[in-house]
Amino acid sequence: MSNRLTVPPSHVVIFGRPGSGKSTLAERLGAEHGYVLFRTGELLRAAVRRDDFLGRRVEIHLASGNLVPDQLIFELMEQSLKAPAAEKLLFDGFPRTMGQVPLLEDFERRLGFSIGCYLDIAVSPVAAIARMTGRRVCPTCGATYHIVGKPPKVAETCDLDGSTLVNRTDDKPEVVALRQQIFDEYATPILDHYRAGASEIFRAVDGEQPFEAVYADACRALGLEAPAA
Ligand SMILES: [Zn+2]
Repeated sequence: MSNRLTVPPSHVVIFGRPGSGKSTLAERLGAEHGYVLFRTGELLRAAVRRDDFLGRRVEIHLASGNLVPDQLIFELMEQSLKAPAAEKLLFDGFPRTMGQVPLLEDFERRLGFSIGCYLDIAVSPVAAIARMTGRRVCPTCGATYHIVGKPPKVAETCDLDGSTLVNRTDDKPEVVALRQQIFDEYATPILDHYRAGASEIFRAVDGEQPFEAVYADACRALGLEAPAA
């Protein structure tokens, strides 16, 4: 591949709409290639659990339903990363807004690292919605299914205990559509920004393939060894 990065980047930002499989992909890149996942959602929840001064400030914003201010996110980053320049970091879900783009630049400058790849797991809204609304979960045992990717033996019935499967609450069609709209509103300008302004390290992979193929393409895009097909 001509656009392959020659050196696997140590600092990567991964993008993907809800239903793109981005989070699963990020976890596998972490497990197999040593990336530490940087996820603001998890950081925020962990801070609230710690219940320290920072955590209590975060909680006030979360409880009031407001977005957590960028400065608090930055403090969380500083607090949570031991050696950000030396670690392999995979930013998953950050930057989430255009307001966080300069924050990441500031973070790079102040903590001495630079993003080596912006990786987009490209999936159309239609395909993402089809995936998300096809997910089913067993209310009894928690087993997960997908009406296309991993169907139960009997339609809408758990293989393990015969319970009638349900949609996850956040997989209901109106919620799924809303999450896609929110992603488009916030992420499209960010993707456009990096695609134009950092084109030499911007990569997109076709996220509508089966998961294994997406993962292999993501590895190749990052200059990492891809699992054998
Ligand atoms: Zn079950």
